[in-house]
Amino acid sequence: MFLLLVILASFLIDCSRATGLEKFDHPIKVNGNLKFLVVGDWGRKGDYNQSAVALQMGKIGEELDIDFVVSTGDNFYTNGLTGEHDPNFLESFTNVYKAKSLQNQWYTVLGNHDYRGDVEAQLSPYLRKIDSRWICLRSFIINAEFAEIFMVDTTPFVKEYFVETKHTYDWRNVMPQKTYTENVLKDLENALSESRAKWKIVVGHHAIRSVGHHGDTNELVERLLPILRAYDVDLYINGHDHCLEHISDTESPIQFLTSGAGSKAWRGDVKGLNSEDVKFFYDGQGFMSVQLTPTHVEIEYYDVFGKAVHKWSRTKQLHHTVI
Ligand SMILES: [Zn+2]
Repeated sequence: MFLLLVILASFLIDCSRATGLEKFDHPIKVNGNLKFLVVGDWGRKGDYNQSAVALQMGKIGEELDIDFVVSTGDNFYTNGLTGEHDPNFLESFTNVYKAKSLQNQWYTVLGNHDYRGDVEAQLSPYLRKIDSRWICLRSFIINAEFAEIFMVDTTPFVKEYFVETKHTYDWRNVMPQKTYTENVLKDLENALSESRAKWKIVVGHHAIRSVGHHGDTNELVERLLPILRAYDVDLYINGHDHCLEHISDTESPIQFLTSGAGSKAWRGDVKGLNSEDVKFFYDGQGFMSVQLTPTHVEIEYYDVFGKAVHKWSRTKQLHHTVI
């Protein structure tokens, strides 16, 4: 049994020294498809429709036979976790996402609300002992053969959090901010340049483009977006704005996808930038699915009743013709 666990652990966790980002290998099923759900901004002990969204995630997860779940952060409201033993972990995660189909790995990044608590606790492998689904790191990679998902810690990029006095943030291991964020971008750039994946997906908590409450995150527009464009990233997925949203980049094939509607949402809470690029905006609760084959990607959004409210797909040739 012990040997089996060791083999399983080494299979799942391949620490990639070359890029500086830990890499999790997630093998593709025999049918050659990769399917996952994306939810963000959720941990409210089931309240504000968190449980209703979780129920529908369970149903859609079953239908699609998903491989895993991605969380775009703001995992525990209002102020992250107080420590490894904070009951909020069980109350807002384990006891809410109970459906069979959701008993897969959860790959999660941190949001600004998580940074208001004990960040080291939320990153601690101890939480995996309580619930083995939980994988939360600052920045890391999910390597799913023809798709690679680059999880990026975006909160330390946002200057406002370092000057505002309303809240306190846990900046341990983040200071100095300039060095930290430069290293995140360097690691990401190295990893993207080495990636041979057909589909490159980047996930962060903050939006690059959004018409929602917070709007664009200028620090990411300036520093992250040029890297995504340079390395042919297909999708940028985020939370933070409590809505479902799809915006297309005007200068590249990148699709900006917001899935931050895991619990509380406000009707009509919009800022209204970049409205000409908006393919879809929904100011209610819900979540998103991503389905991939080596040549095809399909994203779909679902509302709190599990009703499909927006769909988008793209096909890509296996080999680009060099002219
Ligand atoms: Zn947030």
